[in-house]
Amino acid sequence: MAVDLRPEPAVAELARRTAEFVREVVVPVEEQHHGVARTEDIRTDLQRRAKAAGVFAPHVGVGFGGHGLDMRGRAAVFEEAGYSLLGPLALNIAAPDEGNMHLLEAIATDQQRDRYLRPLAAGEVRSCFAMTEPAPGAGSDPSALTTRAERVAGGWRIDGRKWFITGADGAAFTICMARTSGEPGAQGGATMFLVDGDNPGLKTVRHIDTLDESLYGGHIELLFEDCVVTDDAVLGEVDQGFRYAQVRLGPARMTHCMRWLGLARRAQDIATERAAQRHLFGSRLGELGMVQQMIADNEIDIAASRGLILQACWELDQGGSASQATSIAKTFCAEAVWRVVDRALQICGSLGVSGDILLGRFLREVRPFRIYDGPSETHRWAIARRVLRRHDKAATR
Ligand SMILES: Cc1cc2nc3c(=O)[nH]c(=O)nc-3n(C[C@H](O)[C@H](O)[C@H](O)COP(=O)(O)OP(=O)(O)OC[C@H]3O[C@@H](n4cnc5c(N)ncnc54)[C@H](O)[C@@H]3O)c2cc1C
Repeated sequence: MAVDLRPEPAVAELARRTAEFVREVVVPVEEQHHGVARTEDIRTDLQRRAKAAGVFAPHVGVGFGGHGLDMRGRAAVFEEAGYSLLGPLALNIAAPDEGNMHLLEAIATDQQRDRYLRPLAAGEVRSCFAMTEPAPGAGSDPSALTTRAERVAGGWRIDGRKWFITGADGAAFTICMARTSGEPGAQGGATMFLVDGDNPGLKTVRHIDTLDESLYGGHIELLFEDCVVTDDAVLGEVDQGFRYAQVRLGPARMTHCMRWLGLARRAQDIATERAAQRHLFGSRLGELGMVQQMIADNEIDIAASRGLILQACWELDQGGSASQATSIAKTFCAEAVWRVVDRALQICGSLGVSGDILLGRFLREVRPFRIYDGPSETHRWAIARRVLRRHDKAATR
């Protein structure tokens, strides 16, 4: 059986144009702002230029102004966008908006799509996704969900506290996960609600000071207090929130991997350039064996990550949950991109830790990926449990 891993010609062409756009337009802006876009002017200007270059919103359907790429197509294009920390923002494929668009396209009603998805896909507004809570609430174990939504006349009243909600500062709406039945610890009973940013019951408690800074809109602690929403704010069906979370989480895990893989490649390019130019102990840095080992190990981590992403994307494109493949790819990529950036920094020596180049910033940005979208330990636990289930099933045949 022939296996062709190349993207279709139209996708390859879009990836090529994205690479060109990121290198020529986005990287200079990123370098000017040290990898962090802090103003709406920067965001909207980058997005205007991405639209002009014809590379904007590659993931959403054509009816919403996008290119309608499947997961394998996204793998090719998102990796090129991720070559710069600001590439995903420019293309409107940054977290959490990109995952929210995917979710809204999959389960929202026509009215909800017009009201929330259309302006989000156009980059006119931003959004956030509110699941995680301070202890003892939902984190690695979503069933610990404590935020509650109670029935009131014509709608629901939401009460609870969320934290680490990326992009919440300035978001036009939040997709909030709240418990509508059962007690914390119960496997079901969650519902997703679309909460407008100007709802008086939704309050910003604080910006959380974090290692990473490049995800636009910060990481925010939110308080839902007497937050009343109407019935049409329910996304999908009541009590089905955990099921819908899987619709978002599997693909969102992979798109995070794609974007960070692009950044790992950038780190490798920076380190390779340094290894080619710098001379010490009578030779080029890149001719010293231990440096070659780091360059080679980076190349292996990058290639292996891409292969695992493609495998998981193929399974998602076939309509499967791909839970094992996405767990494997996520765990490997999150650790591999950290290794790649860390080795690249090492090759650059003191220059690597300085603010003169961006490797130090990259290192800070990729570290939290081993925690969000499921910590490595949670995924390894889930991977091993599936293996044991498979063993037990085979043993009882
Ligand atoms: C930068 C960043 C952005 C985020 N953005 C969002 C967002 O936009 N929306 C949102 O809802 N959430 C967001 N999160 C939260 C993120 O999803 C959670 O941090 C994650 O689910 C882990 O939950 P927790 O932090 O409560 O850690 P805990 O659940 O307290 O876990 C702590 C540690 O326990 C260990 N552990 C967990 N499970 C197991 C296991 N089965 N076996 C062994 N050890 C285990 C792991 O080492 C883990 O790191 C973000 C987090 C970060 C860091």
